[in-house]
Amino acid sequence: MSDCIFCKLANGEIPTNTVYEDENYRVIMDANPANPGHALVLPKKHGKDIFELDSDTVAGAHAVAKKVAEAAVEVLKADGVNILQNNGEAAGQTVSHFHIHVIPRFKKDWPAMPLHQAAVTEEETKKICADLAAAIK
Ligand code: AMP
Ligand code: ZN
Repeated sequence: MSDCIFCKLANGEIPTNTVYEDENYRVIMDANPANPGHALVLPKKHGKDIFELDSDTVAGAHAVAKKVAEAAVEVLKADGVNILQNNGEAAGQTVSHFHIHVIPRFKKDWPAMPLHQAAVTEEETKKICADLAAAIK
């Protein structure tokens, strides 16, 4: 996509800090890191989100995220790593080119990472579980 900034970064048209590169992916440093070492795995192929991209490319991106997470633990001595991938504005996606966040985490980060807990009844959970199971192709 000619007007996609992540296409340009992934394919080297715009130079950036590159952590890893192979035929299909480039891993760059996030410009607004949540923590030191916050990296983004970008497929070189454009797809705006998990729905638009083929499963092989999505799976391969996660394999690359694993390599980066392992390096973060080894090099940065991260105590944990968040692997985060947003799809759609409602989920917090701001750049419309599929990407996986790899965010090194440290014990000192807590309790600065509040996770909102939704109120869902056991009955609702059972119904949602059954509906999802029926919809998976
Ligand atoms: P998301 O909210 O999941 O779409 O994440 C987009 C991420 O891309 C944010 O964490 C931004 O800081 C990051 N970002 C946006 N533009 C650039 C850029 N030019 N280089 C590196 N990271 C970027
Ligand atoms: Zn793109």
